[in-house]
Amino acid sequence: METIGGDLSTMAPRPFADGHLAAIRAISTSRDYGPGEVVLESGAPQDRFVLVEEGEIEVADPVTGERLHASTLKPGQFMGELAFLNGGPMTLTMRACAPTRTLEAPRSSMLRLMSEVPEIGDHVLTVFSARRRRIFEAGDSSLVVRGASRNPAVARVASFLNRNRIPFHEETEGEPQVSWSGTPIPDPTPRAVARHLGLDLTAAATQTLDLIIVGAGPAGVAAAVYAGAEGLRALVVEDCAIGGQAGTSSRIENYMGFPTGISGADLTFRGQVQAMKFGTSFAMPRTVEALARRDDGFCVTLDGGEELCARSVLVATGVQYRRLPLDRLEAFEGAGVYYAATEMEARLCSETEVVVVGGGNSAGQAAMYLSRVAKHVHVLVRAASLAETMSAYLRERLEADPRITIHTGSQLDRLDGDERLERVVVTTPSGRLSVDCRALFIMIGAAPNTDWLSGLVELDGHGFVRTGAQVGAPSSFATSCPGVFAVGDVRSG
Ligand SMILES: Cc1cc2nc3c(=O)[nH]c(=O)nc-3n(C[C@H](O)[C@H](O)[C@H](O)COP(=O)(O)OP(=O)(O)OC[C@H]3O[C@@H](n4cnc5c(N)ncnc54)[C@H](O)[C@@H]3O)c2cc1C
Repeated sequence: METIGGDLSTMAPRPFADGHLAAIRAISTSRDYGPGEVVLESGAPQDRFVLVEEGEIEVADPVTGERLHASTLKPGQFMGELAFLNGGPMTLTMRACAPTRTLEAPRSSMLRLMSEVPEIGDHVLTVFSARRRRIFEAGDSSLVVRGASRNPAVARVASFLNRNRIPFHEETEGEPQVSWSGTPIPDPTPRAVARHLGLDLTAAATQTLDLIIVGAGPAGVAAAVYAGAEGLRALVVEDCAIGGQAGTSSRIENYMGFPTGISGADLTFRGQVQAMKFGTSFAMPRTVEALARRDDGFCVTLDGGEELCARSVLVATGVQYRRLPLDRLEAFEGAGVYYAATEMEARLCSETEVVVVGGGNSAGQAAMYLSRVAKHVHVLVRAASLAETMSAYLRERLEADPRITIHTGSQLDRLDGDERLERVVVTTPSGRLSVDCRALFIMIGAAPNTDWLSGLVELDGHGFVRTGAQVGAPSSFATSCPGVFAVGDVRSG
């Protein structure tokens, strides 16, 4: 299966071509470092591109000061990883381990050069993506998440980081907490952590915008790529995680160009990197709460009250999962009740039976995925069969899997447990069934996220945005309000 980048361990270091090196030199200044001198410290913004000309740079543990890897950066190699694109902070410390001379270019100049000379951009992004993959998979980071399985707030942070492919180091033992370079982050929330990582609004707040894209599911991310490529100053505002619903899919097999499949999170993360390469900014996790028309465009109001204005707005807010009317549901959300089955949730299922509610493809994919790790998977379906709601190939896989039991004509009645979910009670055609399970996945469809549109655009009877011919507009994506467009699942029809 494809991932977010190449395998660094099999990639031979490749020097820049002479002409490209000359172009980098033209925007850089030269600097000297003595052995042991820090070049960029963990937590410092990646505000410059650093290429080693002479000497050697090592990766150091920001807490202990020890060298972290045997391999070092040698002449011709450069520092940094994908957070360079948004000026995010270093998550590890880089330090000279020999007399070292570097070429250092301001981030904005380097980004301009990468877009003007695509071969330089490709070279840098290939290495940055492979590095992100390596540090994400290895969990090498000053950002430490401890005890996620025992604390819902910490679990929410872990899920946010995981879904956004942000590297963090995970520990299972000890008091649950989230820390940065050894210092605990008080009351950790995804937003607090995002602020540390420069993912909040600061990166984009000062720009005058052509377009605000609300929502970073596949539709919003695709628009972000095209807007950037067309030279528009665009900002994407996302309230949860890049990828939207698709980000929760462990394996997408029907997307052109990925014959061996790719997870939804990796697919959309690649799109985000591509959009950032073209200059599109992202702010998250931030919710757009209202839309207002102004003389020269539109303004959106964010949670927290800030206003952002642009000539146009693209609605890409998709849909949100439906809940079940069950006592204590909210108390167990994040503590045994989930609406997505990603690697993060799967890790919590290894010692337990799992219940998946729903008869659609999302429920089917989740059941298949979880059956690899859980003791057993029960799929609860209200209808008498899956034939009407699930693709045949998926249904057949579920029916053939001895680790999965499908309960048709069944429904969930009760959730039990102290601080976490421990048991569910189900009514089946043959009577009541109690299942000891620490993970319940509710996958029963979704409703459109259109409340924030403040009545400015026409919706259909179910709350989806009417577009194109439905509102007499010339473009398929135009809404009834000129200047506001809609794409993806949020559209009617
Ligand atoms: C488990 C699963 C597996 C799937 N597998 C496949 C598959 O294999 N093939 C396939 O074609 N489709 C698949 N789908 C369906 C596919 O994921 C969706 O059709 C697609 O994600 C819709 O994209 P979207 O961008 O329109 O909306 P969404 O993916 O719903 O994204 C909308 C985004 O907007 C954000 N948002 C909402 N409101 C606000 C707000 N007010 N402010 C800021 N942000 C907001 C949300 O957080 C979300 O990230 C799957 C879906 C799921 C759940």
